[in-house]
Amino acid sequence: MIDPALLPVVVFAGLLGLVIGSFLNVVISRVPAGVPLTRESRCPQCGTPVRPWQNVPVISWLFLRGKCAGCTARISPRYPLVELATGVAFAGVVWAFADAFRLASLAQRPDAADWWALAVIVVAYLYFAAISIALTLIDLDTHRLPNAIVLPSYIVVGILFTIACVLGAPWEALLRAAIGAAILYAFYFILRLVRPAGMGGGDVKLAGVVGLVLAWLGWGPLIVGAFAAFVLGGVFGIALLLARRAGRKTAIPFGPWMIAGAWVGIIAGESLARGYLGLLVTA
Ligand SMILES: [Zn+2]
Repeated sequence: MIDPALLPVVVFAGLLGLVIGSFLNVVISRVPAGVPLTRESRCPQCGTPVRPWQNVPVISWLFLRGKCAGCTARISPRYPLVELATGVAFAGVVWAFADAFRLASLAQRPDAADWWALAVIVVAYLYFAAISIALTLIDLDTHRLPNAIVLPSYIVVGILFTIACVLGAPWEALLRAAIGAAILYAFYFILRLVRPAGMGGGDVKLAGVVGLVLAWLGWGPLIVGAFAAFVLGGVFGIALLLARRAGRKTAIPFGPWMIAGAWVGIIAGESLARGYLGLLVTA
């Protein structure tokens, strides 16, 4: 159970997620097309500019009943869904980390520096949640993972983890994160060499970011998260084949599975890894 004192923080994270989700909608539609993020939003049908009050996440879409105020062109329900998903993801990340920290603090009383370090780590995982949603939809839409999002992520996450260490997080976590990034990057690089049709260059670059956020948490999350991508992608691929919705040659983007696997590793990696080790020991 969550500490009631943390509830306002979780709610705030959810509201922040709604607003970030609104921004992600802009990223998802503009970054692959190379359109500047700062350009004013207009209805693609009639060119009516989007008014400030129409940018209120979810509520505006409901109020407009999913239609443009100028020409009644349909606005895809994907926009409010992305906003909602980001809100839920942000609340979930803060909730998960708050709970983990509460458990840890039962063992030893945390000092203020630990709280600041944790806050910075949470920001890193909120960032990863945001790019997870943006990259998943962009990869499904365009079968690409834009460098403009993937490459700066190394710097953003790397800097946040470094600040967390300066504030008191263990430096060995940063070292492990860097090694994890290199291992997963190399693994996907080799996969792409062996089967160039199965992997894109964007997948290889994203693998390093995934390795970074997984290995920071531990070797268990890295292994579970990396493996889960292939389990999820494989199960989905077989299901598609069985449903005869896809031929053996159908290109299914792998980025969304890498990201889904990463979240399995982040959320359940440590306990799953311990569970398997436990089975090995008792067997
Ligand atoms: Zn319109």
